[in-house]
Amino acid sequence: MKTTISYPTKAGMGKTGSWRVFRPVLHEDKCIKCWICWVFCPESAIERDEFPKIDYDFCKGCGVCANECPVNAIEMRREEK
Ligand code: SF4
Ligand code: SF4
Repeated sequence: MKTTISYPTKAGMGKTGSWRVFRPVLHEDKCIKCWICWVFCPESAIERDEFPKIDYDFCKGCGVCANECPVNAIEMRREEK
């Protein structure tokens, strides 16, 4: 039996970073590299590097990563004007 798996595509809706009001900021000292943020990001804006790397061109600031992080390693900060 064949199974179809779909993956979210970066830039599927253009550069969603222009929508952002809050920006996720990673605190590496807290991160345990569980990659839950990478799994849940709806824009695929998190890349797997030594630590999660957020691509701000595509991050729309939804806060899902911060909500899902089990150790509160991601802080949502208001964008400066
Ligand atoms: S706030 Fe987090 S989950 Fe939302 S788009 Fe940005 S990196 Fe992805
Ligand atoms: S969910 Fe939190 S602890 Fe896990 S990799 Fe992402 S930032 Fe690090």
